This record gives sequence, C-alpha cells and structure tokens, in this order.
Amino acid sequence: MSILFHDIIFGPISSRRLGYSLGINLLPISSKICTFNCIYCECGWNPDKTLDTGFNKREDVYNALENRLVEIKENNEPLDVLTFAGNGEPTLHPQFSEIIDDVITLRNKYFPEKKIAVLSNATTLSNKKITTALKKIDLPILKLDSAIENTFRIINKPSDSFNFQDYINNLSSFKNNIIIQTMFLRGEINGHNVDNTSENELNKWIEVVKKLNPINVMIYSIDREPPAKRLIKIQPEELKKIAEILKTNNIPVQMAF
Ligand code: SF4
Repeated sequence: MSILFHDIIFGPISSRRLGYSLGINLLPISSKICTFNCIYCECGWNPDKTLDTGFNKREDVYNALENRLVEIKENNEPLDVLTFAGNGEPTLHPQFSEIIDDVITLRNKYFPEKKIAVLSNATTLSNKKITTALKKIDLPILKLDSAIENTFRIINKPSDSFNFQDYINNLSSFKNNIIIQTMFLRGEINGHNVDNTSENELNKWIEVVKKLNPINVMIYSIDREPPAKRLIKIQPEELKKIAEILKTNNIPVQMAF
C-alpha cells in the first residue's frame, strides 16, 4: 500500500535512518511528482497523469514549519533533524533554493543545534541553484541504487531525458560532501530479474562510492510494501556484509533494515 503525505509538515516521526525527523513536503499533498519511478517507492507508482501540480507555496511552507517548530519547543517533543521528503522529489519545487534559506532561518531561530537533511534522487544536480542550495545544508542525502546503467534503469525507472553518465558526473560535484543512500533489493519486475547485491553490482558500486568519498553511506532494505509486488527484502546479514565492504574501505556506513 502506498503512502502519500497529506500535510506540508509531518512528524516528527521516528525514522530508521535519521532519528526523530520532522518532514517537510514541498510536493502536492494529493499527488506524487518525481523524475524517477522507483520500483520500491513508498509513495507508489507515479500517476499516469499528474493529478495535482500544486507545489506547496513558499509562504505556506514557512508558516506551517514555524507553527510546528513553536509547538515542538513548547511541548518539548523529540527532534533530531528537519528533513525535506514527501510525495516525490523535493528539488523539483521551483523555489527550492529560497525555501532552503527559509528553513535554515527557522532552524537557526528555534533549534540551531538540529540538522537539516534533503532526501533527493540527484536528478536535478545540473541546476547550479539547486546544488548551491544543497551545499548549504548539513545532510545532502543523494541516491545511488546501482552503478550499472541497466540495473539502475530497472530499479529507478528514470524519465526519458535521463542521462546516466551525466548523473554520475553530477554526483561527483558533491565529492567529499555527500551522503549516499542505496536501497538493496532483488526480485522480478516486468519479466526482468533485478538484483543490486550481486558481486558484479557491488564491485561497480563500491568503485563509484570510493571516488565520491562520501561522509557516510546509508544502506537500507525495503520497509513497506513496494509498488512492484515481486521484490524481496534482503536479510540483515546481507546488509551487514555490504556494510563490511564499506568499512574495509574506510567509508562510514549506516544500516537500516
Ligand atoms: S526517487 Fe524517491 S520519491 Fe522518487 S520514485 Fe524514487 S523513491 Fe519515490
């Protein structure tokens, strides 16, 4: 079953990877918008036709976030991080960079010690304004589910204009300052087997990860029922083996299963 976030601000929710995370959803509250259509997306498949193209307005995001931060402070609710997430790809919002500045202002006013994270699929990194905004925050968490184009296309189902080599090159602009997120899975989709845990996959993936020299790598497995029904959640032991490979290469790793 897919989940859409019907609010601009949601949580704080206890997140597997981030702790108590206050979600900021810039996307429409009744429809998903994304440049990928990942086979495991918790928001479900992209709609055939975008039902609602109304990105949440900058001023509405500001006001909703400020109100919630005031409540959290008054109620002494647990909070670790303010996270751009929600119904699709947050950087698609036409005022993404301005909203980043707003959120930094509010964070500094109410919870200066808390971090700001953006969960992004990294497809908009050719836009300088977006990369500049992402470099202002503490945790730019960018997706790399496979370093092999064919597998990547099966898992992430990018839009027609997507260019894999440009994608990898754009990730390189975050070298030394990137958190990589990778979903590990296997299964079958539309008659294609998919498995990004094979030796060949892991060799290619680690090669790219090493070049990016990330601050951290978040590896995780399926949590909720994915839209593609024939996927298998990989076991904690397998994730631990992948974590070991990263550790032997001196790359910090965080697991969620
Ligand atoms: S990039 Fe994120 S929001 Fe977009 S389809 Fe993939 S999992 Fe869903």
